This record gives sequence, structure tokens and C-alpha cells, in this order.
Amino acid sequence: MSKMDVGTAGREDLSLGREIAERINALAAISEDPANITRIFLTSEHRAAADLILGWMRQAGMAAHIDAIGNVCGRYEGERPGLPALMLGSHYDTVRDAGRWDGPLGVITAISCVADLHRRGLRLPFAIEVVGFADEEGVRFASTLLGSRAVAGTFDEAVLGVRDMTGVSLGEAITAFGLDPDHIGKAARVRGELLAYIELHIEQGPVLEQEDLAVGVVTAIAGATRLAARLTGMAGHAGTVPMRLRRDALSGAAECIGVIEEFCRTDQAGLVGTVGYIHALPGATNVIPGQVSFTIDMRAPTDMHRRRAVTDVARQIEAIAKRRDLALQIDVTHENRTAPCAPWLKAQIADAIAAEGFRVFELPSGAGHDGMAMIDIADVGMIFVRCRGGISHHPDEHVELADADAGARVLLRLIENFRPQAGGK
Ligand SMILES: [Zn+2]
Repeated sequence: MSKMDVGTAGREDLSLGREIAERINALAAISEDPANITRIFLTSEHRAAADLILGWMRQAGMAAHIDAIGNVCGRYEGERPGLPALMLGSHYDTVRDAGRWDGPLGVITAISCVADLHRRGLRLPFAIEVVGFADEEGVRFASTLLGSRAVAGTFDEAVLGVRDMTGVSLGEAITAFGLDPDHIGKAARVRGELLAYIELHIEQGPVLEQEDLAVGVVTAIAGATRLAARLTGMAGHAGTVPMRLRRDALSGAAECIGVIEEFCRTDQAGLVGTVGYIHALPGATNVIPGQVSFTIDMRAPTDMHRRRAVTDVARQIEAIAKRRDLALQIDVTHENRTAPCAPWLKAQIADAIAAEGFRVFELPSGAGHDGMAMIDIADVGMIFVRCRGGISHHPDEHVELADADAGARVLLRLIENFRPQAGGK
């Protein structure tokens, strides 16, 4: 509660935080299963959530509509109509059995900030747009950032043919939702229309809590490389093959996993590596494993750092395979480049944080966000808000009222003091 003695005059009542928490709960009540929170792209829950958010946008003085991919878009004009916009946003879809803050916090906070300007009759020398992206998590069609890619103009039409678990294609789902897949191109914005894209989001990690801080400045959205590795040795009888004659693929994989962990653990610059899946064949108690598949997920704050680390780890795995006489196949299955936050936006976010009386602290985002798509058409900035225990993608995900309020005050301060980049594009 060290933040109670500071902040914007007249806001000690946490009124912004209170409104945000109420709306977070209202949105959380829209779920395909009343026992948990599950809000999936292009479902009736998506529709109900969109309608609720559109209503809040209109109450806040914005013109609001749903675009061709199901994003909700609100616009608050500046001193005169048609000015370039500062875009604020996040997503309102969820994973299955989700928490209530991941995504909606950024959308709802942005709307509350605009509502505050609207109540005061304040118009700025630029427009403000708020976007609630319809699909960030990628649960239904196994393809993330569909909403923000449509806005960035990088939506891949081939994804329209991808089918969900029940056999419905994305194109069919868009049509059934009442939208036209042929119009997705119309959701795209162009660089000159936007002054910047700013997203406020829960941290989804424990760092701010450890620093005893409500908010932080994000330096970059870390890129990720995912690898699939397969080691092939020789299956055999667990009783008859002497240890020195074995080519045990699972023991080899275990050594690899240890090396990956050790390599990342000794890195001082934010490298993280995870083996999240492993499968051994034939998978019997009394058989030496002949073949093992496992995945590796590696992330770092810069692309150069991550790529070098991936190369080093792959080399060590090759050496282990060779020494153990195992055949190795290793493939890159996914690669996301790092989205660095723009220095001029980081500076303005830091100023807003300091002005609200908090210590300025920078941290990278290990998780992916819509900014990874938006960076193609706008400079990106992100504000992180502390979440309890660093827990997310889980029903226990929680943000304290005072922290939600702090995030809103920082965002509001940022908006009011926002200066477009000198000579901006
Ligand atoms: Zn999120």
C-alpha cells in the first residue's frame, strides 16, 4: 500500500480502479461454462462480450463499431475530427479456464481513461482509439494474433481455411458470426493514421511483485524460437542389454534437458528455455527407450541473443547425441522475432510512471502480445501492471484494486501528456 500517499490529486478514492474491477467482473461473467472463464473467438460469448464493450465505449464518448474480424473499435475525436490517433488496446478473448485480467484489463482501462477525458470535456490535439482485439490467444484456430494482424494489414488469407476441432473453418465461423471474410482487408489501418500503439497488460510474471511495484515499463516483447528434437537409439530388453552397449534415447534426452536448463540458468541477460513436452517410445517399464521426441522453447530480449543461444544449445545437443551414438533430428517449428518497444514511447511511459509517484522500472515481456503484430504499422509501447504471484492463464490470476487504479492513472497521465514523435511518420 506504499502507493497510497502519491498520485493524481483527487483520485485517492481509487475510482478508476473500482470501475475497472467492476467491468472486469462483468466481462468475466461471459463464459461458455459458468464454472470458469472461457471466451473463444467467434462464439456467442464473443458476441456478448463485444456488445458489452461497445456499450462502454459509447458511454465514454466514442464512436464504436465491430470490424470485419470481430475486433471492437472505439474512436474519441481530438480537437477536430479526423486527426491521427493514439491507439490503445489489448485483447478480450481468453484461453480455456482463464483468469479475468489477461487482455480485458488493457481494453477496460483504456476505455476508463477516455471516459475520464470525456467527463471533463477534454479534447486533445490527436484522436484516441481503443481496440479490443478479438483473437490474441489463438485457442480456436491455433493461430495467434488474428485480430491485431487484421488491423496491421498482415492477416494471412490462408488461415481462413484452417478448421477448428469441430471441423468449422475460420472463414465459415466469421460468416456464421455475421461478418464477411472478404472484408477483413477493410479492418487494416495504415501507418499515417496512427501516432503509436500502447498496450497496458498484466505482467504475467513475478518480477514487479518482487520489486514491490504496481507498474513497469516494458522494454521489448521477447521473440521466441521453438524446436522439435528427436533422438533415435535402439530399443532393447531392460534386463539383458548391458549398460555399456545401450543406445538409450531417453537417457540422452534427459542429458539434453539438463544442459538446456543449465545453459539458460547461467545466462545473465534474460534468456529462458523450456522443455515442455517429451514423449518416449515404445514407452514400457521393461524396455530401453528407442526413440524420444521433445520440444524446446527459447526466448530472449533480443533476436541476436536468442539466435546465438539456440545455435549454442543445438550444438551441445548434437555433441550429446554423437557421444551416445543417437541419431538426432532437430527442426525449428516456430520463430517469432522480438518486438522492441520504441525508445520515445518508453521515455513517455517512464515520465508518466514517475509523475504518478512510482519508481521507474524496466522489464522485458516474455509472453507474446498484440504489439508483435501492431509493430508493422506503428511504434509500440507497453505498460505492465503487477499481478499476484505472477500467475496468469489460470483462474487465480488477480490484480489488486490499487494496482488496477495505478495502471489507469499512469495511462491517463501518459495520454494527457502524450507528445507525438517529433517529425513523426
Ligand atoms: Zn494477454
